[in-house]
Formats: sequence, structure tokens, C-alpha cells
Amino acid sequence: MIIDAHCDVLFKLWSDKLDFVTSKELQVNLNKWRESPVKVQCFAIFVPPEVSNERQFQVALEMITIFFEQIVKPHEDIKFIQNKNDLINLKKNERGAMLTLEGCHVIGRDINKLKTLLQLGVRVVGLTWNQANAVADGIGEKRGAGLSSFGEEVIALLNKENVWVDVSHLSYQGFFDVIDQATHVMASHSNVYSICKHRRNLDDKQIQAIINKDGWIGVTFVPSFTSEKTKVTYHDTIKHVLYYIDAGAKSCLGFGSDFDGIDTYINGLESIEQYQTLSDELQSILTPTEWAKIAYQNFINKFPQ
Ligand SMILES: [Zn+2]
Repeated sequence: MIIDAHCDVLFKLWSDKLDFVTSKELQVNLNKWRESPVKVQCFAIFVPPEVSNERQFQVALEMITIFFEQIVKPHEDIKFIQNKNDLINLKKNERGAMLTLEGCHVIGRDINKLKTLLQLGVRVVGLTWNQANAVADGIGEKRGAGLSSFGEEVIALLNKENVWVDVSHLSYQGFFDVIDQATHVMASHSNVYSICKHRRNLDDKQIQAIINKDGWIGVTFVPSFTSEKTKVTYHDTIKHVLYYIDAGAKSCLGFGSDFDGIDTYINGLESIEQYQTLSDELQSILTPTEWAKIAYQNFINKFPQ
């Protein structure tokens, strides 16, 4: 059993009009998911920056419609997860689907749009994608500013509503502003900077900040975040897991694959059913307790309530 905190299937279903059950183009389709050890999958609402400002929120709502119409409602074994009890109460044959937001650009400067997304069941809110928005700067904005006044209002709402704040993609300053102000922090898909010097990864200071904050970190399967080599294998992914554990993150760690958000793949982790290989390998290295924590227990423990 594994919980995965990030994939971009909704984006592909929206943009490419694929079939969630069978499309071979998807790294996460229902058939592959059912063959995999993944018990709960988070589905990100990611609206690409090319969509005009006026249409951003509308597209986010279209993706939520796709989530319910194609992923949750037609399949009896797929349950919509909105709180910790939904997670704990999943039956043996059931799998959970969560809604997350990747980037507050879709709400513009309108806090009511965020309230609407929370009412529709979004339980993890990523503040930015790579660009700047009204909430904060993303990691790709050279200004590197942290939270705006509106951003502080957003954090206050998320704290009040017990929703996770996702710092993946956020600027360095924004990261530490969130550490200061947010109650529930996660980095849904970020690897270790000292292993692979990519701007999207977490340096040692950030890792310690998440540990001290009792937050959560998802190891991700993006090749360019995993190794500077040209051929990247799942053994390279394991290095990030072990580094995080050595750094003291054993109780804060999990996975956020980024499946369907990437167009290059890690050898041995090309799609969701291959989680089995990683799982087998890690179970031969870690104690059963360590594996259970990383695979699902930490995520359940930290789920805000
Ligand atoms: Zn991402």
C-alpha cells in the first residue's frame, strides 16, 4: 500500500481528451492503477500558464468535473478522499482519489475562488507553479519574492480550513514564509538538492525546516530532479529516499511521483504499476516499520484535521 501525493492525469485528460480507464498514453490509467500497490492517488489541478487569465478558473472547474465524471463516479472501487477518516476507512478492494491544486494562479486575487475549490474537495494547495502569481513568486521568477499580503490571506484561510500548503514550485523566500505562517506544510514532489542540484529540489536547510515543522515531503520521479546523469534509474530514486531518512525525515517522507506531468522517465519507474519494483527494493533495505511510514503512514498521520 502506497500513497502518491502528485500526478498530472487531470491535465492530460483535459488537454488530450484521453480515456482514464485504458489510455496507453497515460502513466496513471485505471487499469494500471489497479495493478499497482498505490492505494491513494492525489490528482492535481494544473492549469497551464498559456490559458488566458479570464479562463484560468473555468479550466480548473473543468478539471474538477473530469475528476468526478471520469475517475470517481463511474468506478465503485474508487472513493473520493476528503479527510483522514476517508483514508482510514478505505476497504481492502477500494482505492482513494484526492484533489489537489498546483498553483494559485487560477484564483487570481479572489479568495472566494479558493473557497469554492476547498468546498469542492481540494485538500492540498500548491501556492505557485514556476511563475509568479498574486500569492507569491514561483521558483522560476528571478525576483524571488515570498508571500504577498494576499498570499498571507490565503495561508490564513488554509490554516483555518485545515488544508495542506504545498511548497513544491515555490520560491526560496516563499518557502520560508510558509514555514513561518502555515500550520500544515508539504512539499508534494521535490527531491534532495545536495544529490541533484535542481532549483525544484530542497536543500538541507529546507529539509530540516520541514522536519521541524512536522511537515511531509514526497520523493518525486522526475529524472532531472533525480540525477545529473543522462540515464536515470530507480536506484537513483532510492538515493533520495535514503538521504532524506539519514537527514532525519523518516517520519515526514513519502512519494509524489509527478506521473503524467513529465515527458522523460526514470528507468524502472515509467508508470504507476512499476511502483512495485521500487517498493520491493526499498522493502529489502528498510525495516518494515520504516517502509510503512514512508509508503503511507506518514501521510495519514500528517493529514490535517
Ligand atoms: Zn509540478
